[in-house]
Amino acid sequence: PYSLGPSVSDYDARRAKWLRDHPHFPASVSPGRPRVLVVTGSSPRSCGNAGGDHVLLRAFKNKVDYCRVHGLGIFYSNAVLDAELSGFWTKLPILRSLMLAHPETELFWWLDSDAMFTDMLFEPPWSKYVGHNLVLPGWDEKVYVRKSWLGINAGSFVIRNCQWSLDLLDAWARMGPRGPVRYKYGEVLGEALSDRPSYEADDQSALVYLLVTQRERWGKKTFLESSYSLHGYWVEIVDRYEEMMRRRRRNGWTPGIAGGEERWPLVTHFVGCKPCGGQYASYDAAECRRGMERALNFADDQILRLYGFEHESLNTTAVRRVRNDTGGPLDAEDEEIGRLLHPRFRAG
Ligand code: UDP
Ligand code: MN
Repeated sequence: PYSLGPSVSDYDARRAKWLRDHPHFPASVSPGRPRVLVVTGSSPRSCGNAGGDHVLLRAFKNKVDYCRVHGLGIFYSNAVLDAELSGFWTKLPILRSLMLAHPETELFWWLDSDAMFTDMLFEPPWSKYVGHNLVLPGWDEKVYVRKSWLGINAGSFVIRNCQWSLDLLDAWARMGPRGPVRYKYGEVLGEALSDRPSYEADDQSALVYLLVTQRERWGKKTFLESSYSLHGYWVEIVDRYEEMMRRRRRNGWTPGIAGGEERWPLVTHFVGCKPCGGQYASYDAAECRRGMERALNFADDQILRLYGFEHESLNTTAVRRVRNDTGGPLDAEDEEIGRLLHPRFRAG
């Protein structure tokens, strides 16, 4: 069968030795804080539709902002490293290559190009995941009981640098080679999962399939996260940003809490929008574009306010000044703003 590359054995011991030999590249950057690399990418070709590349640029700027604030690395791939694994499958060889080249990186956080950070302050509670190798947005019941291909989302997930993950990528990739294999597995997935029509195998369904059919092997080390939006479905979010802002203001801008117990969505993911492709989009392009504009401006305002500006509204690119420029900078530290400007994040 198809394979991502020569099988790697003894990886955990090899990596441990490398880390011992390179003490200046620790896998933990401070107590309780793993070294994290955010990984994203897009097709080598320019977008097929007008405006798509501009959306990609803005979505990448959004990720750069988040990573800078949190001190995370970021990697953008424009290459299909393995022609067999084209399209959405491309994240697998990218993750494998990065894993093997960066033993110092403890966790890789894959984010689709159409996934945007919409809470610039919140950070995943890393320490909650020490016993797990894969963190997916999802629900146990939907995966293991309902066997739904929507029980997880493969557009934003965290994977640990270890042998288990290399093995998972191998098992996962076997369903992805384009052409007859991908079509054959599409049928297999259609039969095994409860709600998936039979079309060529996609990475998300394939992952649910592994969890469902080999729960003992993969499920034990996989954490299905639903306590915050590691991935948030844009349709349920994009019209509520103003309301979320008002509620946070009333509640004194408690980090990550919109008011009551509700958090701002960490990630707003434009599932089904295909901002760069178009032909398989399941939503109206204008609706998608409007939602993306709002998500990007909502996120950008959290950054712009640090510098004294914000958008006139979430629907426009125009900005206005919200703090007076004074001749006495640095005199007054604004505590709320300081949290993002000079963050002192601790272990989650
Ligand atoms: N992707 C990539 N290279 C490609 C095609 C896709 O890096 O050649 C990435 C891109 O980040 C995209 C993700 O894979 O968001 C998932 O692909 P999909 O086709 O599902 O796109 P989406 O629906 O997320 O726009
Ligand atoms: Mn996506």
